[in-house]
Amino acid sequence: MTVYLVGAGPGDPGLLTVRALELIAAADVIVYDRLIPASALQGARSDATLIYAGKEGGGPSMSQAEISRLLVSHGSCGGIVVRLKGGDPFVFGRGGEEAEALVSAGIAFEVVPGVTAGVAGPAYAGIPVTHRDAASAVAFVTGHEDPTKASGSALDWGALAAFPGTLVFYMGVRQLPAIASSLLAGGRDAAEPAAIVERGTLPEQRVVTGTLETIASMAASARVRAPAVVVVGAVAGLRDALAWFESRPLAGVSVAVTRARAQASGLASRLTDLGAQVVEAPAIRIVPLDGPALSVAGYDLVCLTSPNGVRLLFSRLTAAGVDARAFAGARVAAIGPGTASALRAHGVIADIVPERFVAEGLVEALADVPVRRALVARAAEARDVLVDALRERGAEVEVVALYETVASPLTDAQLAAVGDADYVTFTSSSTVRFFFESAGDLGSRLRARLVSIGPVTSATLREYGRKPELEATRHDIDGLVEALIQDVTASRIRS
Ligand code: SAH
Repeated sequence: MTVYLVGAGPGDPGLLTVRALELIAAADVIVYDRLIPASALQGARSDATLIYAGKEGGGPSMSQAEISRLLVSHGSCGGIVVRLKGGDPFVFGRGGEEAEALVSAGIAFEVVPGVTAGVAGPAYAGIPVTHRDAASAVAFVTGHEDPTKASGSALDWGALAAFPGTLVFYMGVRQLPAIASSLLAGGRDAAEPAAIVERGTLPEQRVVTGTLETIASMAASARVRAPAVVVVGAVAGLRDALAWFESRPLAGVSVAVTRARAQASGLASRLTDLGAQVVEAPAIRIVPLDGPALSVAGYDLVCLTSPNGVRLLFSRLTAAGVDARAFAGARVAAIGPGTASALRAHGVIADIVPERFVAEGLVEALADVPVRRALVARAAEARDVLVDALRERGAEVEVVALYETVASPLTDAQLAAVGDADYVTFTSSSTVRFFFESAGDLGSRLRARLVSIGPVTSATLREYGRKPELEATRHDIDGLVEALIQDVTASRIRS
C-alpha cells in the first residue's frame, strides 16, 4: 500500500521514465492531471481505476484538498496508487503538499521524478538552461502571480532581476507583460535575449524569441497560449544556432495514417521520429479467418503477400503443431521487405523477394522458378494476379485466405483531425475503400495531399475520383516515407 507521486514529463511520450511506465502498468488506481502525455495511460491495466483530477476547458478542477483526500482514501485501501502529474511532481506540481498529506495520514509514498517542462521545453527549442559561458545558474520561477498586485508578491522581483543566470518562468503566459516590466524595473537588461516555448516537446511546439523588452508583445502577436515556459537569459540567444526540433525532415507536418491500428505503429513511429504529427485514422481492421489446421508440406513454393499473412500463417502452423521446419522442402517467396522481415522473425529467410513490391513484381521474380504445387497464403479479398499467373504456368495452386480486412468506422474526432491533416497516407486498396466509405462528404473536401504506396492503391484512389498527389516509387513503408520527405523538402524549397 504505497502511493507513488509520479512525473509524466512535459508531453513527449518518449520522455516518460522507465519507472513511470512500470508503475502505470502496475497501478490499481491512477489519479492523473491534464498535462500528461496523451498516450501515458495506454499502458494502464484495463481494470485499473482512472480518476481525472485536472481542469477541463478552464472549468473547476478538483480542489487540492479533495485530491489529497482522494490519495489518502485510495492509499489506505491497499494496492498501488499512482498520482500522475505533468513534468516533475515536485516542480510546481503541488507534489510536496500531497506528500505531506500522505505523511500525516501515515501512508507510505515514493516519488518518481519526471522531466520538467522548464528544462525540456527550452531543450527542445535549442536552449540549454545553463551554459559554461552564458549561464552558471538557473532559477525556476512561478509566473502565476501578478507582480503588480497590491497585497505584495511572494517573489522578490529586485532579487530576480539581479539573479546572475537564466530565469525560467512556469505558468507565465498571462502575466508575461507584468513579468517583463517588473524585471526591467528591477534593472535587468532590456536587450537580454528571451524566448517563450509553447507546448514544448510536443509536435505542435512553437517558439517565439525576442528580448526582455520585446518578448511580451511578440508573444501576444503570435497568440501564444498556455502551457508555455518563458526563458530570460543569454542562453535564449543560443537557439539561433542550436534549434534542432524544427529542422527534422517532417517537423510541423501532420500526417494521417489510415492502416489498421495493429499495423500502424511501425509507420506512425517512423513518422513521429521524423518530426511529423501523426493523426491516427485506422479505417480498417484485420480479422483473422478461421480455418483448418494447416500444413505447408508437399508444396515446392509458398507465397506470402503481407506481414499479417505471415503472422497468421504461423499461428495456423502452431495450431497444427509444426514450426518453421515445415518449410524445409519449399521455396518461400515474399512480396516485399516487410513480409520478408516478418518471415525472418519466424526463422525463415525468403528465397525470393521481387524488386517491385506488387503482385506483378512477384510474378516476374518467379518466372524462372520451377513450380509444381504452390501455396498462396493471403487476405481473402486479394487480387488474383499471382494465382492466375502460376496456374497459367500449369502449377497446381492452393489459396488460403488467412484474414479479411473490414471497415473500422472513424469517429467524428478522427475525421475532423484528418480534415486538418497535411497528408493522408494509403498503404493498400482496402485502406482507400474503407477510408472513403467512412469519410462520407469529407472525402471530396480533403485539403490534404494524398500519398499512395503504389500503383494498385493509386488506381483505387482514382475509383474514388482522387488522384494521389504522391505515389511511392518503392512500394513499401520505407518508400512511402521517402516520398513524403521528398515532397515536404521540395515544398520547403519552393516557399
Ligand atoms: N510539474 C510541471 C509543471 C506544472 S505547472 C513540470 O515539472 O513541468 C504548469 C506549467 O508548466 C505550465 O503553465 C507551463 O508553464 C509549464 N508546462 C507544462 N508543460 C509544458 C509544455 N509542454 N511546454 C511548455 N510549458 C509547459
